[in-house]
Amino acid sequence: MSTTVTGECPECEFTFTAAELGVGETLACPECALTLQVRAVDGGALALEAVETELPDWGE
Ligand SMILES: [Zn+2]
Repeated sequence: MSTTVTGECPECEFTFTAAELGVGETLACPECALTLQVRAVDGGALALEAVETELPDWGE
């Protein structure tokens, strides 16, 4: 039995389903590729917030 949750991208308002995620986990919006972090899980719905992705500076 698999559990899926639904989320809506706060940036492009694309609605999608994903495998169950926990608070604090991140995923990329399948539509705009923005990085989203799970702020809360309410039933089968995710509350998502866009997060800035800070790529490590490897000093190339
Ligand atoms: Zn999006």
